[in-house]
Amino acid sequence: MDSAVFESIRQLLITPKRIVITSHVNPDGDAVGSSLGLYWFLSGLGHQVQVIIPNSFPSFLSWLPGCDRIVHHKGKSQESLQFIESAEVIFCLDFNALNRLDTLEESVRNSNGTRVLIDHHAQPVQEFDHLISIVETSSTSEIVFDFMDAFNVPHLIDKKIAECLFVGIMTDTGSFSFGCNYVNTFNIVARLISLGIDVEHIHRLVYDTYTESRMRLLGYSLSEKLKVLGNYHTAYISLTKKELRQFRHQIGDTEGIVNYALSIKGINLAILLIEREKYIRLSLRSKGKFSVNDLARQYFNGGGHKNAAGGNSYANMEQTLEKIHGLLPLLKDQLNY
Ligand code: 5GP
Ligand code: MN
Repeated sequence: MDSAVFESIRQLLITPKRIVITSHVNPDGDAVGSSLGLYWFLSGLGHQVQVIIPNSFPSFLSWLPGCDRIVHHKGKSQESLQFIESAEVIFCLDFNALNRLDTLEESVRNSNGTRVLIDHHAQPVQEFDHLISIVETSSTSEIVFDFMDAFNVPHLIDKKIAECLFVGIMTDTGSFSFGCNYVNTFNIVARLISLGIDVEHIHRLVYDTYTESRMRLLGYSLSEKLKVLGNYHTAYISLTKKELRQFRHQIGDTEGIVNYALSIKGINLAILLIEREKYIRLSLRSKGKFSVNDLARQYFNGGGHKNAAGGNSYANMEQTLEKIHGLLPLLKDQLNY
């Protein structure tokens, strides 16, 4: 972490402030975990803190300490806009461009508060006052731990915070299977365990809580919808609104499905396409050197990391799949390794 940037932020926090912490639309484990970890820490420092997210998070995160205090903009738009308007500092966690805030973008952009970015996605947009942007790390939660640690107030980092941050690190690394080849990641996890977290219990709370319909949707996706294009080292799964309704889809139910497609031997690119109200949402994953960040940026109005990215297509499902089939011959050489 750049010490001059840290020092500027530390100075900003010397006197009690009204602080908003916010994160990206469709918040995941790292978004919610890092936000709540920072929430408890800044509250401990004596600030008035409110976490505001654009829309709700998956139910497998609903046991996280403090998540009942989060304001979801979708349900409470007036309240959240007031918080943002009056905030003196806005922490922006786990995203690298204000447009990832969706319906909160405009108010955060217009706020007079100082915008502080803490994030691990490549190529952050220069629209923040202070940037802690580190790509060579597991997650935003890992950076948030180092950020707190630098304040040198160890008594303020407790088990609640450790649970929140561990969820962020665990989910963003697919249970320590990617993006975690870092000594620091495991050193921090060791410190989180020494703060009293139960790693096995947390794993069960996050991963062993499928509803029957979510499990059947996964089964259906793999047995009926998985397309494997061996020539192109690519596999994809597409799900329509009708299919999601059939399986009583809840937020978070499709999370993780794309990883099954990627886990096939010889597959280097996996794509999950989900039909939403007005667009097709893409989740892209790769193994090794192929960058889905580049693919998402270039063709699908999105971005993310080298091996995990997301994007949107404003064509219908059929046209979006045609576009993918059209792109694959161009990408064939890059995908062959
Ligand atoms: P997911 O497929 O799980 O929705 O997203 C994978 C990763 O890409 C996450 O780290 C997420 O933050 C990032 N991501 C997803 N969608 C977008 C997008 O539209 N723009 C950018 N810049 N990053 C995205
Ligand atoms: Mn993240």
